Amino acid sequence: MGATAYGYPRQGPDRQLKKAVESYWAGRTSEEALLATAAELRAGNRRELRAAGLAEIPTGDFSLYDHVLDMAWALGAVPERHRAAGLGELDTYFAMARGTAEVAPLEMTKWFDTNYHYLVPELSPDSVFTADSRRQVAELTEARREGATARPVLLGPVSFLLLAKPGPDAPADFEPLTLLDRLLPAYASLLADLRAAGAEWVQLDEPVLVQDQPRAVLSATGRAYRDLCAATDRPKLLVASYFDALGEALPVLAQSPVEGLAMDFTGPAAGNLEALAGIGGLPGRRLVAGVIDGRNIWAADLEKALATLATLLGLAGRLDVAPSCSLLHVPLDAAAERELDPQVQRWLSFARQKTAEVALLARALTEGRDAVAPQLAAARAALASRAGSALTRDTAVRERCAAVGEADTRRPQPYAERAAAQRARLGLPPLPTTTIGSFPQTGELRAARAGLRSGRLTEEAYRERIATEIREVIAFQEKAGLDVLVHGEPERNDMVQFFAERLNGFLATRHGWVQSYGTRYVRPPILAGDVSRPAPMTLDWTGYAQSLTDRPVKGMLTGPVTMLSWSFVRDDQPLAETARQVALALRDEVADLEAAGTSVIQVDEPALRELLPLRQAARAGYLEWATEAFRLATSGVRADTQIHTHMCYAEFGEVLAGIEALDADVISLEAARSRMGIADELAAAGYPREVGPGVYDIHSPRVPTTEEMAELLRHALRAVPAERLWINPDCGLKTRGREEVEAALGNMVAAARLVRESLPLGG
Ligand code: GLN
Ligand code: ZN
Repeated sequence: MGATAYGYPRQGPDRQLKKAVESYWAGRTSEEALLATAAELRAGNRRELRAAGLAEIPTGDFSLYDHVLDMAWALGAVPERHRAAGLGELDTYFAMARGTAEVAPLEMTKWFDTNYHYLVPELSPDSVFTADSRRQVAELTEARREGATARPVLLGPVSFLLLAKPGPDAPADFEPLTLLDRLLPAYASLLADLRAAGAEWVQLDEPVLVQDQPRAVLSATGRAYRDLCAATDRPKLLVASYFDALGEALPVLAQSPVEGLAMDFTGPAAGNLEALAGIGGLPGRRLVAGVIDGRNIWAADLEKALATLATLLGLAGRLDVAPSCSLLHVPLDAAAERELDPQVQRWLSFARQKTAEVALLARALTEGRDAVAPQLAAARAALASRAGSALTRDTAVRERCAAVGEADTRRPQPYAERAAAQRARLGLPPLPTTTIGSFPQTGELRAARAGLRSGRLTEEAYRERIATEIREVIAFQEKAGLDVLVHGEPERNDMVQFFAERLNGFLATRHGWVQSYGTRYVRPPILAGDVSRPAPMTLDWTGYAQSLTDRPVKGMLTGPVTMLSWSFVRDDQPLAETARQVALALRDEVADLEAAGTSVIQVDEPALRELLPLRQAARAGYLEWATEAFRLATSGVRADTQIHTHMCYAEFGEVLAGIEALDADVISLEAARSRMGIADELAAAGYPREVGPGVYDIHSPRVPTTEEMAELLRHALRAVPAERLWINPDCGLKTRGREEVEAALGNMVAAARLVRESLPLGG
């Protein structure tokens, strides 16, 4: 019985890795210096994990950029365009991650339902794999030289293939899984090298197995592990899964000859316990039990974890304790949050605290609970203090939530009536033009925000800077001829943080950085308590912007699901309940905006798809509460107040029913990159309301021409009738440059005019 982990935050206590990598990119640091910093950070992590009492530590989990990219590299899956760039090894690696002036990087996408993004390997029918074990062997050797018991962690073969996509030269319907037989020898070679370097165990992560998989994938999994286990020169294999239950994949793995499984027993994966008992456990084999939630930040209920472990003891030959997944997804150290109330600080558990929790559980199991009685008592006290705190229970909020009825979540008038009232009030031309909300966040603006934080700039001077920005943005939009204007969001650093800072119930951290991708780190707010709105949040700047123009200026809010998705959420009540509280606070803001004369209010839900449960069976239930929360936030308005929403990703298939259930009057969507595929999809699904499929891809600095956007519009018009079609970019313009945005929006308005002229009269 021992404690272990699958991975640890990579960046270092002061985000040293980010700084070192970025300075290497900028040419200020040599390759040697970068690699030396990385080695120091790894050594630091090992010291920490061993000092905390982990019996076996992970290696190979560290990465200069991303662990999926590292796996592609270790298998020689380097696309031809990156190989041909003629760069050294490290620069080729970074070219895959970020591209160069000449070649595009690998695509990036979300790692399951976390906020981490990985690089998508590109494969084709003629991909060949060549094992390169140098990095894994070196990191294992570093650890072993210190006397540590270490277990290399690699992404497993089935997950590697399923997370990959067809490369640019492969047929679009090419399935990377067909490469399995060619891939397995490369894995066997990596495993043999690690065995030769002294690894007793190697962990292969197969998180794709917690998603619904067709029979073909399950049988490929069985085949892969039979095949890998057939080798004689190999380490023992521990197959790890996390984020949900193994379901049908559990018997497949249990029947394979692998020596151990690492499974998640937290949150939605709790069902693993019963399933494991149901198959009679893993007699004679090793089970690593993920009983501490590795992706949220709350101090654990250790008693509950001990009870789970007690059941598991009888179900495996050897039992170890671990966090449920890599600790990559949580910040490093809750003790660094000295500005939090010490009481509240004790509720939190970041990577360091979670490591201590698993070590403590292992001790309780080996030495008996008496050996750790004081720590268990302290943990109980922390839980009790959280449960009884005024922050987590606000009676007024709870009463209001409990009183919400069906009628509060529906607009009183049918859509047709609303549409007519809005048409009469707004008087917009056909094919109205608008933008998604943010305008370019100029260096000046960022400097002003930093100045305000450091005290170099007074509050008054900062506000003057924002006001000037809004005046410019409004003047530009009027001149360009846009129909529904925005204030540009210059006062918002981040669309979630801005509201989290203004709502009760959210906590902010100072050092709570979590890797989003590569060198980009975010500091998610912590949704810790009952949510309420002490004062209006957006009325001032929206009102100011509206005072400058006769055209409608959109109110701009972030929706409840997105607020949850980009925060750490409370684990002591259902997410649906938390979403409802946020929704009620937003409902008040919507009402205030309406009372102040705002005729168009946009509530962004770009993260609606992100919280979608990994298993199909849980999705309908999720969409029900998620869309109900949106409607609760937006349905208190009059018929002639127009509710907009926005989402920004190309694949809507899975949430199409959800989009419909939002009952927003207008929805703007990303579409330019998929050549309006979404417009066709929505039309095919019979979507009844107004839509603005983006005609301008804001992810690229390129300025689209008028003709190009007009062509996309004509395409959209074949799917959506003119009276329900809006013209807008794909997403906010925050990351773009001023000049390119002005040129692109100019062309967009011109495209709208061009196409309007071709509409039948009265259209
Ligand atoms: N209103 C936000 C903006 O324009 C929307 C951002 C988003 O969709 N992610 O920046
Ligand atoms: Zn967007």
